[in-house]
Amino acid sequence: MTPGDLRIQAAELTAFASEALEKSGARPADALTVAKHLVGANLAGHDSHGIGLLPAYVKHAVEGLVDVTADPEILHDKGAVLKVAAHDSWGKVAGDFAMKAAFPKVDALGLCAVTVSNAHHLGRIGAYGELAAQEGFAALFFVNVTDHDPMVAPYRGTDARFGTNPVCIALPPTGAKPAFLLDMATSRIAMGKARVAANKGGRVPFGSIIDADGMPTDDPSGFKGFEQKGALAPFGDHKGYGLAFAAELLAGAFSGGGTIQPGNERRGGIRNQMLAIVMQPDAFGDPADMEREMEAMWSYATASPPADWDSPVIAPGDPERALRKRRSESGIPLDPETVKQLNAAAEAVGVEGRLGVKE
Ligand code: NAD
Repeated sequence: MTPGDLRIQAAELTAFASEALEKSGARPADALTVAKHLVGANLAGHDSHGIGLLPAYVKHAVEGLVDVTADPEILHDKGAVLKVAAHDSWGKVAGDFAMKAAFPKVDALGLCAVTVSNAHHLGRIGAYGELAAQEGFAALFFVNVTDHDPMVAPYRGTDARFGTNPVCIALPPTGAKPAFLLDMATSRIAMGKARVAANKGGRVPFGSIIDADGMPTDDPSGFKGFEQKGALAPFGDHKGYGLAFAAELLAGAFSGGGTIQPGNERRGGIRNQMLAIVMQPDAFGDPADMEREMEAMWSYATASPPADWDSPVIAPGDPERALRKRRSESGIPLDPETVKQLNAAAEAVGVEGRLGVKE
């Protein structure tokens, strides 16, 4: 939160986003699902995947880059394998649909691998991890991003060849510990961070981007506005690159939706493909033994004496949990520029209400 930011309650933002999406052509139930996911990302602290994306979503709906009349469909249902075709429907609707289709199979078979192809933006992948964890399941997710130019360079490469391909691992809560949720992009920083730094004339961590000549830099000026001269670097050198590559193959090729290689179309929208492997922990052994071991490991890892006593060791999923609690109570901070963009996008499709305006 910086001076000048507004704080708006999640319910108000959800209603605003839902109305704007409906006015852009989304069916009411879809509009509400998409709005809830967007605001859910803000609540979890991932503003890059929150309501700030509404103007892009409205544009995509109006331009037909998301098919507002399409429904996700089960293409293939064989044993523990499910394939869902999203048919360019709203990603959040398709993501929820795929998870709900997988859950009865996980109960019956111990696990289910479900793919999703050609979904509009799935958004924050942790949301699907949380759905699985709430059911008492563990889940692994690999996601690729297509339909636009690549943004992330391969390790040792000098130009962009990948999306920010997220990977997510979720485990259910135990009696004494909350859910484990590792949910991350495979780029070192988000594209949004490079753009914000460029627009403010600031810097990014050295080596988190490469310039148009393929050289590591901290100067984000090539990412101003909608320009992209250069590329984001993968996190962890060859390791993040390897995960991004795996996500491309597992999500893009297994789902049938395709990878980001240039033989596939790039319309300027956002498409996600996903492979989710959802598991019933009880199918793997005695639940009490597993819980005991998981809790002991959690306590052991987080008891490491911190290098900085103001920043203790925490577990993946803790930052989102803490922010969700705080923002659910005191509202979601939005900077004036984002509020302006949201109001302009809503006005363009005929929404009468404005954010940040007192009656
Ligand atoms: P991030 O770097 O903020 O967090 C990554 C993970 O690290 C989270 O699980 C978090 O709980 C954990 N974490 C953070 N600080 C920690 C600490 N001190 N100790 C232990 N764990 C810690 O996330 P990101 O990589 O910027 O990704 C942001 C979001 O963007 C994710 O939700 C991801 O799914 C989403 N995303 C989506 C797409 C898409 O195409 N749909 C593409 C890229 C990213």
